[in-house]
Amino acid sequence: MKLQPSEVTAIIKKEIENYDSNLKMESVGTVISVGDGVARLHGLDDCMMSELLEFPGGIRGVALNLEQDNVGCVLLGSDQKIKEGDVVKSSGKIISVPVGEALLGRVVNALGDPIDGKGPIDAAETRPIEMPAPSVLERQSVNEPMQTGIKAIDAMIPVGRGQRELIIGDRQTGKTAICVDAIINQKGTKDEDGGQVICVYVAVGQKQSTVKAVVAELEKAGAMDYTIVVSAPASEQASMQYIAPFAGCSMGEYFRNRSRHVLAIYDDIYKHALAWRQVSLLLRRPPGREAFPGDVFNLHSRLLERAAKLSDTAHEFNPELYQSGGGSLTALPIVETQEADVSAYIPTNVISITDGQIFLEADLFNAGIRPAVNVGVSVSRVGGAAQVPAMKKVAGGLRIELAQYRELAAFAQFGSDLDENTQRQLTRGERLVELLKQGQYRPMSVGEQIVSVLAGTGGFLDDLPVKAVGEFERGLLAYMSASHKDVLERVRTEGKLSDELREALTSAIAGFKSTFKPAD
Ligand code: ATP
Ligand code: MG
Repeated sequence: MKLQPSEVTAIIKKEIENYDSNLKMESVGTVISVGDGVARLHGLDDCMMSELLEFPGGIRGVALNLEQDNVGCVLLGSDQKIKEGDVVKSSGKIISVPVGEALLGRVVNALGDPIDGKGPIDAAETRPIEMPAPSVLERQSVNEPMQTGIKAIDAMIPVGRGQRELIIGDRQTGKTAICVDAIINQKGTKDEDGGQVICVYVAVGQKQSTVKAVVAELEKAGAMDYTIVVSAPASEQASMQYIAPFAGCSMGEYFRNRSRHVLAIYDDIYKHALAWRQVSLLLRRPPGREAFPGDVFNLHSRLLERAAKLSDTAHEFNPELYQSGGGSLTALPIVETQEADVSAYIPTNVISITDGQIFLEADLFNAGIRPAVNVGVSVSRVGGAAQVPAMKKVAGGLRIELAQYRELAAFAQFGSDLDENTQRQLTRGERLVELLKQGQYRPMSVGEQIVSVLAGTGGFLDDLPVKAVGEFERGLLAYMSASHKDVLERVRTEGKLSDELREALTSAIAGFKSTFKPAD
């Protein structure tokens, strides 16, 4: 019997009719070796960098080393149940985290899973943890202030929205405190255009109890409503600590790409570098300086370059990525130094990536000057353009007077015969230093800050005992908000400090001064 060609086609057609078209191409491999939270895999030929891998038992991993005959990956869970020869599936996706409004008020781990016991998070979208930084055309220069509420910073080291400002200092010098205050200070931003500033606090390698305390403080201040906390404590695997800042950044970017303003805090990226060192050494990447892998600089610049002030038309350049323009992501990375050594590897790296640094000093902190900002070596390279003009005007004098004071104070220790002018500058400086002290959880509005600074540079404190300065300031601010609310309001709305407004402020301060009596 001979088959006709048409019959052959008919048979083949029939055969493939029931072919299951839902079959999925899936790339699988096997585990060659596993241990210390890393695994080597064979057979994943088309694996991508940072691709999410799935192990038996629901354990996930991230591919980091793509070598000729194997893939090195870190595990995002316990390696105890994974055996040699186990099957690994690649997911075809870069590792992603949930993003969106649903995350506000929540505490999540580096993968975006809730760890606050408040139930599942119903996020509408996910977003890869690694995203390209906005290009030059999609950015504009920093032009709005990111008020921290801390006098010493907002007056002299102003930060702008979209800036990267490093907070650096030894352990226990108040680094976290500054950031927590900055988050609390975003509380009143609801009514501004751009709306409520969203905050993302990423805790890397810290004690769980420290993170818990920060969350409790934020809750107490009513700041959790607009804050996402990403926590990868020291007890978690290094791989989770490595991912956490990138995950937090992606969560922030979701808002940045929708014209919102975001404040992201990475506390701290020295510990992040340590986690990356651990992961890299386990994956047998060659160590470089101080045993950190050579790409730790790249790691941190990849993270910090994503901080940006987007141009108003960013969405026209890249409609897929940006829903609308004008948003910003401000990054405040924290770096812990050892013995104030800012020339160590990680601090120098991060100093060169950021737009300035706020340097906190243990000596100042222990002398009771808190926040312990060393004004002499702290800078903000772009924030000045964004500072409230009225503040800029009154703070200019403050910087100079403090610099003169520091210079003279070093000399004055040696001699007692000081001419009148020197004596006057010392008196002024001492009181200004006192004035810049500020308690925790007490952020100040720009208006209040301007009044305080003006009282100092205007000489209203010169004849007061140093220890009465704090009392004077508190009294003055209470007096201003009780009897001169209109003037404070004008400072806020006008932004500029006209001669006439300055006159009004000065006479109000003088009015208070005439009634002020120190407690003893
Ligand atoms: P670590 O290196 O452990 O992370 P840190 O540099 O983040 O420390 P904080 O935890 O912020 O420092 O502060 C250390 C201590 O100093 C805390 O007990 C905090 O309450 C206190 N502190 C910080 N800032 C101030 C301030 N402005 N006034 C009074 N106390 C402060
Ligand atoms: Mg801290």
